[in-house]
Order: sequence, then structure tokens, then C-alpha cells
Amino acid sequence: MIERRNFYIDGMWVAPSEANDFHVINPSNEEPCATISLGSQADTDAAVAAAKAALTGWMATPASDRIALVEKLVDIYQSRTEDLAQAMSLEMGAPIDMARTQQAGAGTWHLKNFIRAAKEFEFERPLGNHAPNDRIIYEAVGVAALITPWNWPMNQITLKVGAAAISGCTMVLKPSEQSPLNAMIFADMMDEAGFPPGVFNLVNGDGAGVGSQLSAHPDVDMVSFTGSTRAGTAISKNAADTLKKVHLELGGKGANVVFADADEKAIKRGVLHMMNNTGQSCNAPSRMLVQRPVYDQAVETAAEVANKVTVGSAAEEGRHIGPVVNEVQWNKIQDLIQKGIDEGARLVAGGTGRPEGLNKGYYVRPTVFADANNQMTIAREEIFGPVLTMIPFETEEEAIEIANDTPYGLTNYVQTQDGARANRMARALRSGMVEMNGQLRSAGSPFGGMKQSGNGREGGVWGLEDFLEVKAVGGWAAE
Ligand code: NAD
Repeated sequence: MIERRNFYIDGMWVAPSEANDFHVINPSNEEPCATISLGSQADTDAAVAAAKAALTGWMATPASDRIALVEKLVDIYQSRTEDLAQAMSLEMGAPIDMARTQQAGAGTWHLKNFIRAAKEFEFERPLGNHAPNDRIIYEAVGVAALITPWNWPMNQITLKVGAAAISGCTMVLKPSEQSPLNAMIFADMMDEAGFPPGVFNLVNGDGAGVGSQLSAHPDVDMVSFTGSTRAGTAISKNAADTLKKVHLELGGKGANVVFADADEKAIKRGVLHMMNNTGQSCNAPSRMLVQRPVYDQAVETAAEVANKVTVGSAAEEGRHIGPVVNEVQWNKIQDLIQKGIDEGARLVAGGTGRPEGLNKGYYVRPTVFADANNQMTIAREEIFGPVLTMIPFETEEEAIEIANDTPYGLTNYVQTQDGARANRMARALRSGMVEMNGQLRSAGSPFGGMKQSGNGREGGVWGLEDFLEVKAVGGWAAE
């Protein structure tokens, strides 16, 4: 059993101000795997005070020095990929091979993209040729509270820490209490890289405690949050009294619009994308909209593909999917699958209960519903499990209407071999991201949503800008 009760504050691992043990549960076997502490107001205050004290010096450090430290961090990160992968696999259930590649790999990718973007970023630039005495200065927002979820832990932590560090913000990270171990390994790396004391701090805690304390704290200038829309709303309200900047990356209910002329792998690709990370991705293509002429065949293919997805322990190597993160999520997913059945969608793969042979662990059957309509609960709520909802459509206009008829707007997907139609769809879909024909967005592309999916952009140059204030100067003297 791992025991890591301390917090990283002002360049040191320190004991919590009062004991408040929390057991991290291994979702593959439902057994406790680690003990951490949940912080209290005194721990939050100490971390914020350290970040505040370090701010002036860190902001004044040349951007090139900050970038050099992040470059050092990348080297350390790469040398400890296995430790990170093992931690994530243990605490949030990512199968170990997937944890090594996708989960841990995401961190290297984001940090390198920030370095590339920052090297080209002009932190000071002229307003324009018409105004030679005006300068625009991009300057750190200040002390940033970073509140992250458990589903893609290193992905989220590096997207926030990388941007904050390069921008000159100091920070307090509160990782999800469901997956704190990888974050503490990451804090060790920040220490080894040699970031000055106070620039990066970590306090473990839950949403009601440290999460709320950070959101309301008068010395925190910005909260960057990824997680549920519910918590995003609570954080926004909590932050309102101090008018701090609130940067939100929330849930999604992405449509994957499959036209009759889609390539032959489109359905398989869509189902496997949905099942990846056991469906626990905010950008999961969870509503598959299929054009009528190919709908029946698509349902058959989707069921076949889902039936072939294997489920197993996160500790085992291989291409299976793991458990979902915890009992609360398992129960929520079971209720939503039952709702799908009760509301009249046709279950063509999976269903309630555990997969055969798995009696312990938060395992869910890869599930596909057909003949759903967009008003059903399974088409409206983010399920956050391996559950795909298929909806037929007739025309392009109808597909756009269904896709956009959701409170969310994170990622939509389009499958068609008609390039003009693909581009029309990309313009019409109300989401922060659109991916077509299985083509992923490239390095440095911004991640973020519209509507109830949030207001922030993470990654590359847009990710840096979200941690920067714009200062306009008139009367700038020639240097
Ligand atoms: P959550 O939003 O409750 O937790 C995410 C993070 O926010 C954690 O660090 C948590 O401690 C913190 N938090 C929770 N409530 C808070 C509050 N009031 N103030 C400050 N911080 C708070 O997510 P969850 O309970 O772990 O998962 C529930 C649902 O959230 C999932 O079913 C899924 O729909 C959604 N979710 C979305 C994403 C995403 O990437 N968009 C990630 C995780 C979870």
C-alpha cells in the first residue's frame, strides 16, 4: 500500500496541517491501493501564500529561462514515463499499455507543443505600424489554481502546468482525489527540474474542501478547471465574489455524423474511439448519427465491433479496456444504460451488469444502443462510460440540427468522402473542435469547447494566451 500524505509547498514536501486520510481505490479490484491526505484551509492558504510570494520573481524571469526549465522537465518526464503509467493504471484503471502510450504520452506531447509555441510567441510586440509608440505586453495572469480530473490526468496536468509555467504564472495544483499519485510523481519532476520554490505547489483535496477554497481564495487570480459541468458551475459561482478569471474545460456529448458515402472503416473507428479509455473522455464521439441508407448495416457493424472489445484488469498488458474509475461512476453508468432501455432505445450490444467472468472491479459491458432519438437521456447526458448511442438521420440539414441540439459543444466528428460537404459541416457544427474522417487535430491545435463545454482553450499558443493578460502601453520610448 502506497502512503503519500504530504503536500508540495514552497519547494518542499510538507505534512498536512491536520490529519485527514483518504484511501485511493484501485478500480480493477476495488481494493485500497494508497493513502493520501485531504488538505484543509490552512494547507490551501500556505500553498497560495507560497505562490503569491514567488510571483514577482517568476514573472520577471526571462521567458527563455522559463522555457528552458520546461525543456528540462520534458527530459525528466520522459525518463519517468513508466512510473507515471503504473500510477495511472493503478488509480484510475487505464490498461497499462494504454497508460504508457496515450495517457503518459499526452504529457510529453503537450509540453513540447508549448515549448514550440512559446519560442515563437512575442511576449512584447508593437501595436502596429500605424502606432510606433504603442506596445502590447503579454503578462502572466498571476497565481493560478489548477483543478484537474481523473480521466486523462497527465494530459490535463501538463496542459495547465506547462502553460502556466511558461506564461510566468505561479500555481497551486489540486489534482483529482481519485487519481493523486501520478500528480505527486509529476511534482517530484517539477522539483528535480529546479523550478524556484513557490512557483509550483500541490495540495491534495476534494472539491468541497481544497477545490472550493482555491476557487474562493482572494489571492488566487485565476482558476483553470477541467471536469464536470456541475463542478464548473459551482467553481464559477464560488469565484464570482473575487472576480477572478475562470477558465473551464467541461463535458461533452459529441456527435459523430456518418454520411452514406463515409469510408468503410468509419463505423469501426467511431465505436473504438467511443470505447477508448472506457468511454471516459469529454470529447468521446458518444452520439453516432448515421444516414438512413447505411444505417442498418452500421448498427450491425457497431454491435459486432463492440462485442469484440475485451474488458479486463488495468494491470494486464494488451488492447482491452479497463474498469471505470469508481463505484459512483459505475452506478451512474448502470442507471443510464437502464434508462436507455426504459426509454425505448434498442440495445444491440452490452447492457447492464458486469462483463462475464468479472465479478469484482468497476467493469462495464461495452454497450451500443440503436434507434435512439436525440431527446432520450442517453443522447443528452454525458454517460462517461463505454456506451454508444446511435441515431438515424435523412439529410445534411437534419444531421446538423441533431448534432447541435445539445447543451454541450466540445468536439463533433464528420465522416464523408465529399470534401465540400465535410467543410460545410465543419462550419455549421457548434463546437470548439471538429475532426473529420479520423484525422486528428495537429500539434499545437487548441482544445476547448463552446456552450456548456466551457470557455477555455488549452494547448499551443491559445493555451499560453489563456494564462496571459494583455497590457496596452501608450508612449513607449524607443530603446
Ligand atoms: P468532478 O468535476 O466532480 O471533479 C473534477 C475535479 O474537480 C476534481 O479535482 C474534483 O475534486 C474537483 N471538484 C469537484 N467539485 C468541485 C467544486 N465544487 N469546487 C472545486 N473543485 C471541485 O468530476 P467527477 O465527479 O470526478 O466526475 C463526474 C462527472 O464529471 C463525469 O461523469 C463526467 O461527466 C464529468 N467529467 C468530465 C471531465 C472532462 O474532461 N470534461 C473530466 C472528469 C469528469
